[in-house]
Amino acid sequence: MRTLRTVAQVRTALRPARRAERTIALVPTMGALHAGHLALVERARAECDEVVVSLFVNPAQFGDPDDLAAYPRDEDRDAVLAAEAGADLLFAPSAEELYPPGFVTQVTLGGPLVEALEGSRRGPEHFRGVATVVTKLLNVVQPDVAFFGQKDAQQTVAIRRLVADLNLPVRIEVAPTVREPDGLALSSRNVRLVAADRARARALPAALAAAADAHASGEREAAALGSSARAAMTPFGVEPEYLALVDPESLAPVTTVESAALVAVAAIVGGVRLIDNQLIGTPGPRRRQP
Ligand code: AMP
Repeated sequence: MRTLRTVAQVRTALRPARRAERTIALVPTMGALHAGHLALVERARAECDEVVVSLFVNPAQFGDPDDLAAYPRDEDRDAVLAAEAGADLLFAPSAEELYPPGFVTQVTLGGPLVEALEGSRRGPEHFRGVATVVTKLLNVVQPDVAFFGQKDAQQTVAIRRLVADLNLPVRIEVAPTVREPDGLALSSRNVRLVAADRARARALPAALAAAADAHASGEREAAALGSSARAAMTPFGVEPEYLALVDPESLAPVTTVESAALVAVAAIVGGVRLIDNQLIGTPGPRRRQP
């Protein structure tokens, strides 16, 4: 596996594959790789000929400078793990390479897709930062397929939307959330949890499981499902920042779960902001395919 720093190096490195019509995969990451990221890389390896992993802690999507400064970084370790999982190229640009002096263009999505859930807490800048950097990475690598995790459900919905809206020639694949044995979703931020807070972090998967159980028992009212989920967090002493039942595609709030709903939760545990989500019910066929 080669590590590349510049856009020009990526273009040159991928030219032979493109000429030979070999399929190219992109797995965008912010590094501090864990088994959730590696599952995406392994899936890309299984489905495509050339696998590019990008590693870029995107300043534009962090509202809080302390969160950006505390974000774990270990490129050497990431390179070893990405190579073991089957990556051919690691694209690890500097911020100056992706945002050179004079950079002024942003990709902005509108509406509940970006205003709900994470947008309500992190502000419109967050998804503008995500959409802009993902568009840039897709343009740099020009992959046939890009892989994202269900862990960041809202991000996957926003990216599908921007790919459709901007006619980007890429297929978006979403892989299931990889979890610790006790249910906690893997996250690069988990390493910042001290032992007591790591135990309290189980509040998030417990909330999702409670909503799923209540749904399985026949409850369909979002308010009641949300109450069950919140009640499951109380023994852990964790208050959700938000806990919402939304339409899995529009992310608009649901009052009654007809076919399916996304239960999404965010909470700060021991100073670390965690998010998780779970689909309940059975979604119908996707209404819009990019
Ligand atoms: P990040 O480095 O946090 O930007 O994540 C890079 C990609 O890995 C995103 O598509 C995430 O949704 C995905 N990802 C992060 N955590 C997990 C997880 N626990 N399971 C599956 N995918 C994940």
